[in-house]
Amino acid sequence: LGPLAGRFDVDALDECDSTSSELMRRADRGAPAGTVIVADRQSAGRGRRGRSWLSSPESSLTFSVLWRFPGNAAGLSGLSLAVGVALARALDSLGATGVRLKWPNDVLLEVDGEFAKLAGILIELSSDRRGTQAIVGIGLNLSAPTEALPQAVAGLADAGVTAGRHDVLAAILSELAGVLDTFGEAGFAGLKAAWQGYHAWQDLPVHILGEEQTLSGRCLGVDADGSLLLDTGERIERIFSGDVSLRRA
Ligand code: ATP
Repeated sequence: LGPLAGRFDVDALDECDSTSSELMRRADRGAPAGTVIVADRQSAGRGRRGRSWLSSPESSLTFSVLWRFPGNAAGLSGLSLAVGVALARALDSLGATGVRLKWPNDVLLEVDGEFAKLAGILIELSSDRRGTQAIVGIGLNLSAPTEALPQAVAGLADAGVTAGRHDVLAAILSELAGVLDTFGEAGFAGLKAAWQGYHAWQDLPVHILGEEQTLSGRCLGVDADGSLLLDTGERIERIFSGDVSLRRA
């Protein structure tokens, strides 16, 4: 990892249930911040709300990073957005075109006005007296999965990136180091402009699907606290919870 040595300590596994679950167990046993688990195969890769993340050794890069922040989880709601900025910057540095971000945790690829899911970010926080531990899970498609999924999917190859998985991981960790520093000092406020620069659906009509209701309006992007701003025509709604799904109208 060259200059990253000392900030991240990467353990590469052939297989595990989920890199985030494995990292959580290691964190419980005292693993330091900066521990990274990358696995060729996951038998139980997770998304949000119990959803599954599909991966295969040929087509995916799946890894998780342990980080710690002082204080409680209150200021960390923008962390998945911050990690999205690191991913987008890293993929750009590898020559990708069309990388966009979707609130709160997806990286999309835009090709000819169509959007497909390239990567997902899963943040799991736990706090105690000493501060807050973040397990940052990232699943990135190197090539698009062949399984049928409810949404369009894409791989890095579709973005024009030819780098191998080691170089992709190194590029992401390199950007992540800087982004986590900025986030630690200034919170998401320090990265909001960068996120907006990658926003997939700025000023476009969207639906926000919640458990009980759907809100529709024009997507105004994110605020410094990581919330999504939606212009319903009658008022500006601020959406904090990640337990909703954003869709193009
Ligand atoms: P939504 O887009 O509905 O808000 P989400 O952000 O909650 O979804 P995640 O938790 O990030 O979704 O990811 C899980 C979902 O991603 C799965 O339900 C599946 O539809 C989709 N998915 C699973 N594996 C992949 C993959 N390798 N590439 C792209 N999408 C995937």
